[in-house]
Amino acid sequence: MNEGIVTMHYDKSIKAYEKARNVIPGGVDSPVRAFKSVGGTPLFIKKGEGAYLIDVDGNRYVDYVQSWGPLIFGHANKTIEKAVIKAVKKGLSFGAPTKAETKLATLICSIFPDMDKVRFVSSGTEAVMSAIRLARGFTGKDDIIKFEGCYHGHSDSLLVQAGSGAVTFGSPSSPGVPADLTKHTLLAKYNDIKSVKKCFENSKNIACIIIEPIAGNMGFVPADPKFLEELRALCDKHGTLLIFDEVMSGFRASLKGAQGIYQTLPDLVTFGKVIGGGMPVGAFAGRAEVMDKLSPDGPVYQAGTLSGNPVAMAAGLASLEQIVDESDLYVRLEKKAKRLVEGLKEAAKEAGIPLQVGAIGSMFGFFFNEKPVKNFDDALKSDTTRFAAFHQGMLREGFYFACSQFETGFICDAMSDEIIEETIEAAQKVFKEIA
Ligand SMILES: *Cc1c(COP(=O)(O)O)cnc(C)c1O
Repeated sequence: MNEGIVTMHYDKSIKAYEKARNVIPGGVDSPVRAFKSVGGTPLFIKKGEGAYLIDVDGNRYVDYVQSWGPLIFGHANKTIEKAVIKAVKKGLSFGAPTKAETKLATLICSIFPDMDKVRFVSSGTEAVMSAIRLARGFTGKDDIIKFEGCYHGHSDSLLVQAGSGAVTFGSPSSPGVPADLTKHTLLAKYNDIKSVKKCFENSKNIACIIIEPIAGNMGFVPADPKFLEELRALCDKHGTLLIFDEVMSGFRASLKGAQGIYQTLPDLVTFGKVIGGGMPVGAFAGRAEVMDKLSPDGPVYQAGTLSGNPVAMAAGLASLEQIVDESDLYVRLEKKAKRLVEGLKEAAKEAGIPLQVGAIGSMFGFFFNEKPVKNFDDALKSDTTRFAAFHQGMLREGFYFACSQFETGFICDAMSDEIIEETIEAAQKVFKEIA
């Protein structure tokens, strides 16, 4: 692919970026898109086709970002496209209930038997923010525990040692977030139960623990199964709710997300990304006893003008129904993810570059790191300069990876085995150049 092309042309992206910067802060509507940590200009996208992205200069890339997770079937999936067009023709929004919401909620509850009710919102950030308010309202407690390097969206009390763009830009807690708010956010270390116990020693007022059970925003770092079990036990002992933030891992790591991989069950779970099939959808779910505390049945207020939007619901339904229909989807995806990371690891080894890799379901990750990565401190010891060189090299070869060492990669069903092999071949070349 792109054989013989020494330098790709990015002229149109460069021009588009200049224009955007005049009217949009940093030229982007979400910071990690700006390519800050890898250098160069963000690519402006013209369209997507299955596994591929095509930029405004006409370059074609294999896309391992997939809109940061939502597109499990790849770009412009025909079934989702048809469902969306059908819904659009009936009107874009009503601000009144539609049957599509009940249908999607029923499907989700059937996948997660421990979840009785779901409420839809419009983003992952909103889902987590609302789940935390609900946990506080339900328990009557104010403090929350979050883990260093986990990202739960950009709401105030969660922008403390957050991952994703917040890692790359090195401001753990952002200006504009009052210290009075974040004092209720207790920080613990991922995969380190002692640090969690310490939080419980310091506060008798802990409403919830929120965790990415398969962390994807400090790079790809799965939790140890025993760690999750111990969190569950601590929550039960202290009357604290356990929230799994599965905005990324939900319907990505497996049909049931982390709950399909681990034995531990949460009290509340948050979704986003795949649940909307590419449209803006988030959701949070739990037992009726907890969810019924939400307004209008209960006192905990939560609302949204475009929540459960009919077009977004149509996309979510079309995506989830395809997922449920394809019983071996995740086996297929995981086989490709594992082949990719094993191939990358081998290629790196041949070039004398230490690389840590991992994959679960359609999620994968790799760190330019001497040692296995178990938490945020480990992740931060990765060689980000080498990552930047790898990213640039792969882009030139026609492979679009997330533009930060601290992100996760995604396999989509439109990726063939040949594409995976081509990626490994390109990586062999790039690793040799950057060794
Ligand atoms: C992406 C993400 C969020 C935020 O979702 P948005 O839709 O970007 O607001 C929250 N939690 C996790 C684990 C995520 O990966």
